[in-house]
Amino acid sequence: MGKRKPRPWPDTPEPLASSVIDNHTHLPVHEGEIPRADGVKMPLEEQLERARQVGVTRMISSACELPYFDPMLELARAHEGVRVALAIHPNEAALHAGCADPSPDGLTPQLREHHIPLDEALSAVEERLGDPMVVAVGESGLDYFRTADPGREAQKESFRAHIEMAARHDLPLQIHDREAHEDSIELLRECANPDQRIVFHCFSGDAAMASVLAERGWYASFAGPISYPANEDLRQAFAALPPELILVETDAPYLTPLPWRGCPNASYVMAHTVRFIAELWGISEEGACMQLRENTERVYGSW
Ligand SMILES: [Zn+2]
Repeated sequence: MGKRKPRPWPDTPEPLASSVIDNHTHLPVHEGEIPRADGVKMPLEEQLERARQVGVTRMISSACELPYFDPMLELARAHEGVRVALAIHPNEAALHAGCADPSPDGLTPQLREHHIPLDEALSAVEERLGDPMVVAVGESGLDYFRTADPGREAQKESFRAHIEMAARHDLPLQIHDREAHEDSIELLRECANPDQRIVFHCFSGDAAMASVLAERGWYASFAGPISYPANEDLRQAFAALPPELILVETDAPYLTPLPWRGCPNASYVMAHTVRFIAELWGISEEGACMQLRENTERVYGSW
């Protein structure tokens, strides 16, 4: 048997030439959510301190399960630079609707003890959208990887409700679209206002989908996978988008960029993705930081 490859926490990268914002992450509200790397957990404070050191000075942390809403808002109040996105995750939407069939990938979802009906869960999102810490609705959307029929119907209902509440509160919407590109676009075409700020978080489409986004003025947010060698389609999609529609994120603790793929992710590691984007654009690191920062502030405002 081969020895397990050691997977440490990534080293802190060299500071970026200018500051940027991680527009989609999941900060740990409880210690138990911090992944271990070589047996070690990196406390939230240290993750944030490292992020500041490299120039990832602000971040939007998504709470997309009901029990995390209030702890995440408290976390944002207690830490400079942190703001919140709230939604019922599409896979949670299926559970709230009572759909716990085994998913196409073979996992059996667990219905939680605190399970409440979907409409009540959606109200719990909307009730909190006026909180000054909330800068976005997200992540909502469709996940056909994890959820089969009839859970997909619940996801669509939930997605529609999130599009509408984002419009009512004049907040940008972060879309989770996993193996559901066509239906996600169709639903947005149907329900979103032309002037709504729409972000495909962890964009995973191809160049054809990117042109749809470009046509509509919707944003694509890129995470670590843009740096993976196999993802040529994703880089072609990136190239098909105007620079002003591109955002950057970690989706931590997952999707760690090269050269730390397979290790836990955190906002400070995003410096690698930013540098990768600068290379793809063929511009200076400082130019890329400024473009990304400008785009992010156009969508979410400044804090
Ligand atoms: Zn996410």
